[in-house]
This record gives sequence, structure tokens and C-alpha cells, in this order.
Amino acid sequence: MSELMKQYIDEAEKALLHTYNRYQIVLDKGEGVYLYDLDGNKYLDFVSGIAVFALGYHYKDYDDALKAQIDKLLHTSNYYYNVPAVEAAKKIKEVSKMDRVFFTNSGAEAVEGALKAARKYAFLKDGRTDHEIIAMNHSFHGRTFGALSVTGNPHYREAFEPMIGNIKFADLNDFDSVLKCVNDKTCAIILETVQGEGGIHPATEEFLKSVRKLCDEKDILLILDEIQCGMGRTGYMFAWQKYGIKPDIMTTAKALGCGVPVGAFLMTEKVGAASLVAGDHGTTYGGNPFACAAVGKVLDLFSEDHIIENVNQVAPYLEKRLDELKNKYDFIIDRRGAGLMQGLVFDRPVAEVIGKALSKGLILINAGSDIIRFVPPLVITKENVDDMISILDSCLESI
Ligand SMILES: *Cc1c(COP(=O)(O)O)cnc(C)c1O
Repeated sequence: MSELMKQYIDEAEKALLHTYNRYQIVLDKGEGVYLYDLDGNKYLDFVSGIAVFALGYHYKDYDDALKAQIDKLLHTSNYYYNVPAVEAAKKIKEVSKMDRVFFTNSGAEAVEGALKAARKYAFLKDGRTDHEIIAMNHSFHGRTFGALSVTGNPHYREAFEPMIGNIKFADLNDFDSVLKCVNDKTCAIILETVQGEGGIHPATEEFLKSVRKLCDEKDILLILDEIQCGMGRTGYMFAWQKYGIKPDIMTTAKALGCGVPVGAFLMTEKVGAASLVAGDHGTTYGGNPFACAAVGKVLDLFSEDHIIENVNQVAPYLEKRLDELKNKYDFIIDRRGAGLMQGLVFDRPVAEVIGKALSKGLILINAGSDIIRFVPPLVITKENVDDMISILDSCLESI
């Protein structure tokens, strides 16, 4: 490592709050599916900023659209209309078939808004203030208090108790465990269509349909968190679109702006017409012209450049190559996921493998201690998959 890179790492450790155990590289620039550190070392990126940079780095049309917006208008208050927000809202409504959208700055904020909308909807129905929300064990919804309260990982919550209260936890894909949590106070059920941080667990069709039916019968709102699994990653614009069901409220973020911090929660007209009104919710930055220029351009490019088609071409190949690794090594016990959101499950911690891969020019990340997660840019090719597998294989051989 160069003195310069080492110096930046030392300074970072002195100045930044230590909330991440960072890998020992300083990233400097990106090109396509590759990242470069300050020393000029090249890395094949199978993380894409954790499912963010769907288009890969330095995507010309995207960069040009952002530059044009910078020269025009970066920010206005939400007290005024702006064209990029209107365009982005129209486009995201079209691809999601939802009816109303609220733009946020992050995923966690989208979850906060979704929870508030659900509680307000229930409050307007019966005037009670003791409504309950059912969330899933091993879920991840973000680090703010509301989002943390529905995150099914006690370790993340413990030091910050008390949470917002009236949250019950069930198990993904265990409908009986959901039924056990339901009562006349239940106002919403929140889940990730494919659990990300919790270990790449897709919800089953049977489970989603049962939960949807239950919600319909009891007028409970189904909130699907598509922050990681949405935006084309599973081969559908949103993962739930595979299952012939529809949420009442949906959250998105990560790849929505492809690097510009932006999220959104969306709802059906039923919820939109009977939940949040003027004064109930707001944001200074959320949905500003710059963020929305990114959203609008990303959605245009998804369709013009056939991004989801590429996912559906490459994902089966990635699955096949990962399965080969699983069959080759006893210590790999499972491969699961959907589309370009895959996990290899080990019988031991994966930190060492990820560290080795990094030293050989491959960026990977875990999901939980024993799972390597693969969430590459959605523009990867089969050749990129082959390159990734050959580096990973060489790291596994010495385990
Ligand atoms: C990343 C993530 C969040 C939180 O998003 P932030 O932008 O980090 O606040 C919420 N839900 C899911 C499923 C996520 O993957």
C-alpha cells in the first residue's frame, strides 16, 4: 500500500466515527463494473455499493443528465413544484403500478414514512393509538428508530431500547407464526420480498399470497420493503411483481438513484386517500430536483438499455457457476437468492475469503457472518461472472 493511501486510512480512523470496520482500501474512481483505489489497483465489483450502482460506474447518459441538472437547479423546497420530481413520480408510478409516491433521502426514511402512513390509515379508521405492526425475524429495514424497531435482529436494537413499541416478530415463510401475531390491533405487516442483510432469503410465493389474503380479509396493510431487492435486481422491476400480488405500501431506495441518495415510499390510492395529509409528514431534501433527475434518468435507462433483460440473461449463469462452487467445496452448504441477488452459505465465517478476494482484485461482501452476498451492477456480463468465479475459486482452494 502506498504512503498516501495509508495516510488517508489513518486520517479516516481519526476523524470518522468508527461505525464500520472498513476494508483497507481507499476507492478513487469507477468505470463500468470496475473500481480503482488510490494506488491505481483495479477491482471487479460484485457489491455495487450494496445493490446501489445498478448501471455500473461512469454511465455516460446518467452522468450527463446529472451534470445538466446541476447547471439548472439543485434544490427547491417541497413547498414548490419542480419538473424532475413530477417526471420521476410519473415514471415510478408507471413501473410499480402504485398510485402515490413520497420521495425520501434514504431507505430508512422510506421505511419511516411507510410505517407512519400505515399507523395513520389505521388511526383514521378506528381512532385508536395502540396499533401493532408485525415484522419478520432476520429482517433489516434501516437504522433510524422506526426502521430499527421493525428490524428483526435483536443485536442491532438492544443498546437503543426502548423501540417504538407494539411491534411483533414472526418468521418469514412461516404463515402460522404470522397468524399467531395477528389481533384486532394489527395495522400492518412489513417484510422484505427478498431478505438482504439477514442472509438472502426470498419470501415464497405461498407465503406472500397467504399474507396478502390475510391482509385483505382484515384490512391490514401489507408493506413490502424493496429497498435492496427492487429496481430490477431479481429480474423484475420489483420482486413482488413475480408473484401476482401487490403491496399496499412499498419502499424503494438503493438503486433508485444509482448513487444519488434518494428513496421513496409508494402506496395505492386506497392508502393515499386515507392516510398522510398536509402537515403529517415532510422532508427538506427529499424529492429535490437533483435527486429526482437521477431517478427519472435511471428509470429511462432501465427501459432504453434493457437492464432487466440483462439481469434475466446473466442471473441463471451466475446461479449455475455458484452452484458449481457449492458442489466443489464441502464447506459451502447452500446457494440461494433471486436474480442478481445471490448468497453462498458457508459452514464458517466468510471474512477471510472476502479479505483474500479483495487482495486479488475482487470486491465481495457478506450478509451475516457466514454468507457471501453477490449484488453486482445489473450490467455485468457472463465474462464478468467467469472472472469473479475464477478469483473466488482461487481464494477457496487455500481454505
Ligand atoms: C439498505 C436497506 C435499508 C436501509 O436503507 P438506507 O438507505 O441505508 O437507510 C432498508 N431496507 C432494506 C431491505 C435495505 O436493504
